[in-house]
This record gives sequence, C-alpha cells and structure tokens, in this order.
Amino acid sequence: MQSSASVVIIGAGVMGASVACHLALRGCRDVVVLEQFESEVQGSTARSAAGVRHQFSHELNVRMSQYGIERYKHFQTEMDADSGLHQVGYLFLINDAENWHGYTEATAMQQALGVRTRLLQPSEINAIVPDVVTDDLIGATFNPDDGFCDPHSVAMGYLAKARRLGVTVERNAQVRGITTQSGRIVSVDTAQGSISCETVINCAGSWAGAVAALAGLEVPILPYRRNVYVTQPTTIIPGQMPLTVDVTSGFWIRKEHDSLIMGLSKPDEAPGYNIAVDWAWLDTVLDAGFARFPRLGDVTLNEKQCWAGCYEITPDHMPILGRHPELPSFINAAGFSGHGIMHAPATGLVIAEEVLDGTAHSFAIDPLRIERYRTGSIFERNII
Ligand SMILES: Cc1cc2nc3c(=O)[nH]c(=O)nc-3n(C[C@H](O)[C@H](O)[C@H](O)COP(=O)(O)OP(=O)(O)OC[C@H]3O[C@@H](n4cnc5c(N)ncnc54)[C@H](O)[C@@H]3O)c2cc1C
Repeated sequence: MQSSASVVIIGAGVMGASVACHLALRGCRDVVVLEQFESEVQGSTARSAAGVRHQFSHELNVRMSQYGIERYKHFQTEMDADSGLHQVGYLFLINDAENWHGYTEATAMQQALGVRTRLLQPSEINAIVPDVVTDDLIGATFNPDDGFCDPHSVAMGYLAKARRLGVTVERNAQVRGITTQSGRIVSVDTAQGSISCETVINCAGSWAGAVAALAGLEVPILPYRRNVYVTQPTTIIPGQMPLTVDVTSGFWIRKEHDSLIMGLSKPDEAPGYNIAVDWAWLDTVLDAGFARFPRLGDVTLNEKQCWAGCYEITPDHMPILGRHPELPSFINAAGFSGHGIMHAPATGLVIAEEVLDGTAHSFAIDPLRIERYRTGSIFERNII
C-alpha cells in the first residue's frame, strides 16, 4: 500500500465512491479509498431498497434529490455506467389530518422548486395502484419522477471512473487508528500499514461513529437494522407500480422485476450492526401490508431472497456533512439515515468542494454540519 496520499477516504460504499470520483474529476487524484472488506460496496449500499424520491419536507433534501435523480438519469453519459434508474414514482397514502397538512405543505414547497409532486384525491389512487384500500384515506401525494435505481451499479460506476482517473482503492484495509498532532491529521493506520495524509473523509456508513472515535471525535451515527421481505413472482399488481408508502404505519412496498419487496421500520430496534433477517417482525409487516393491500394474502414469500441491512442513523435522521470543528481536516460524509443512495451525487459534489475550495458551495450544507447539534437540529417529516 502507498505510504502517503493527499486525501484518504474511509469506506468504499456509494458515498466513498461518489466523493472519490468527484475529487478526481476536479483533478485531485492523489486519493486512496480504504475499505475494510474483501471487496467494495458490501455495506448498506448493497442492502438498500434503492428508492429515489423528491418527496421530502426539508428543502435541502428536495434539492439534493433533484440533483441526484438528474445525475442518475444521465449516469451512462457522465459516468459510463448504468444507474438502473426506473422512474416509476413514489405514492404516499395519508389517512390522518396532521400528516395531510404536512404533506400538503411539502408538496407546495416541492412544486415551487419545479418538482412534479401532486396531491391526489382517494378516488384517483386506484388508477395508479389497483386494489389499494382507500376507504379511510384523506388523499395521497404522487411524483412520477421518483423511483428506484441500482445502488451497486452506481457505486461501482463511480469507483471505476475514479480509478480510471488515478484514484487507488485498497481492500482488506480496515482503518484501526487515526494519528493526530496539534489539531492536524498525521496518518491513518490500517491492517496493511500506515498512510500519511492531510485530509480524511469519513464515508464509513454504519461504522462512521466508530471511525470518528479513532480520531477522538464524537459523531452521533449508529447502525439500526432494516429488513426487506421479498415475495415470489406475482401478477397481483400488473404493470409498473410506484414505491407506495402507507404513511401512518410506515409500511412500504414496490416491485422488483415480477416480485414485490416490502418493509416497515421497527420502532424499538436496538442499535448495533445486525444483518440477520428479523423473522419475528414479519407478521407485523404483513399485518400492515394486508390492511392496505388485501391481495398480498394471495402471494408467497421467497424467504431465501429476503435480506436485512443497516440504516446509519443520526439523532435527526439527517446526514452529518463537512469539516469537524475540532479537527478541520477530518470531513464527515455519513449518517444518511435511509437516504444515502439518492443523495450520493450531491454529497460527492459538496464534499469535493469542501476539500478543494475550503467550503461547500453548490448546496448550502450548514444545516447539515455537526455544529447543528449545539444550536438545534433540523426537522424532516418524510422519514420512512
Ligand atoms: C434496508 C435498507 C433500505 C434502504 N433504502 C434506501 C432507499 O430506498 N433509498 C436511499 O437513498 N437509501 C436507502 N438506504 C440507505 C442507503 O443504503 C445508505 O444511506 C447508503 O448506502 C450509505 O452509503 P455509505 O457509503 O455511507 O455506507 P456503506 O455502503 O455502508 O459503506 C460504508 C463502507 O465503509 C466501510 N468501512 C467502515 N468502517 C471502516 C473502517 N474502519 N475501515 C475501512 N472501511 C470501513 C464499510 O465496510 C463499507 O463498505 C437503505 C438502507 C437499507 C439498509
């Protein structure tokens, strides 16, 4: 392994890949990406449900999604790789007045930014997804430009482009120490040896809090398991279907080829890296699913295809981006709390700016800096 680099990126998931590529595209190529596993893209990126959506309540999230989805549209031309983008839409089903008020306000904000989200009456919903129970609904929000992509292909595409531009990726290179002196980074110490460097970027996903602690920093990011249950191929929902979310229960479902995939966050899940499927939770998920889609009762589960991964969660479910005030050459790009795939392109862009221009400027990321936990964290309503 090389003994020095200008920039060391810890983690070869979608975030490390995007940051590496954006740095290299701007001419910063003395960059090493360190990955603890035997191969790249084995963390949350490979275990995602892959959704991309504009439908957030915080303007910054909407803007980052606009940018990300646009980049995924043009990924083949820009990155020479297939993003696997399918713009099948996202449909949020709402049956309580408080959420209806919040989603109505968010829709107006999104429309002002040029996003094509619209409000639907209950009578319009079955034209988009047949056989959904709508009796109790106040309405829904729908955006045809949302959808899903292929996170593995995106991350590998970014990494391939970065490598072609001169970036090095080291596998089996778990970071075990970060040596600092007088408020500066001296070296990053791995299973394979040490690399002296000026700047470290923390793209360690679920492990980002632990990696920050190696530099003596407190970064509040913890892993929480999320399960994805997969059915056998079925025709109960013909044609394409938007990723559909029952807002009150949190149950979500979408099509993956001819199968359905679905999930529901478990409110009392304990933190910790755990990627074993939670079979005990399945009944709760199915109960929420049957209530909205009674025809799910006709479908068989494909147990071998079900999976679990971890969300990397912060106290306000928003990422922590930018320089750490106690060690300014340590830059966080982690804690995406379920939104990392859609926000990876925007994150790569702003973190490259943070490194090369001193501070990010394409998006106003101050609300996402770690300092917010001293001054008041920000609020995003549309968390799944
Ligand atoms: C079930 C599920 C569903 C999801 N659904 C969506 C969705 O619909 N849409 C969406 O946008 N997002 C979704 N997400 C979230 C998304 O997958 C993550 O936000 C995103 O993948 C985070 O990318 P990352 O690169 O930060 O982390 P990761 O992909 O986990 O990569 C971090 C990398 O850092 C490496 N690493 C960690 N510590 C060290 C160390 N000490 N030394 C060296 N390497 C290290 C890890 O091995 C790993 O490869 C979902 C996640 C899950 C689990």
